[in-house]
Amino acid sequence: MGQVLILNAGGEQVLGTVTLRHAIGMLYRQVARVHEAVPGASFGPYPLPRSVELVRYLYTRWVYEATGRPPYSREGVLRRDQRRCAYCGAEASTIDHVVPRSKGGKTSWTNCVAACWPCNNRKADKTPAQAGLRLRVEPRVPSLREIGVRLR
Ligand SMILES: [Zn+2]
Repeated sequence: MGQVLILNAGGEQVLGTVTLRHAIGMLYRQVARVHEAVPGASFGPYPLPRSVELVRYLYTRWVYEATGRPPYSREGVLRRDQRRCAYCGAEASTIDHVVPRSKGGKTSWTNCVAACWPCNNRKADKTPAQAGLRLRVEPRVPSLREIGVRLR
């Protein structure tokens, strides 16, 4: 039985390797999906995995320590900003890219803020200045505690 690579959700972090049997068990329990398969090979109903990817992001102490920051998440931005619009303070349910994606803005902790729908709509593809909006908060990398992540 070969070894199968386990990748975190998103497929960018290698978490380790497990036996094929273990990997198939993860597919069966639907905690992982096939990331890369061995061409033309199968294992029962599954393509024979070379690597599998977790379905849900696993926060581990070592991943956090390796990167020094929690991985970006939409829900994390809403929690960091306490579900308040970064422009007007109203209840926020959307995420705004401060520098719009069309202008090269990244989906990251320091370029994304919680926003209410009207502000998000008004801002659209503009910078805050162009849209006549002012940020009430400085977007920043949150602590794990702030976004409610417990390390295991
Ligand atoms: Zn707003």
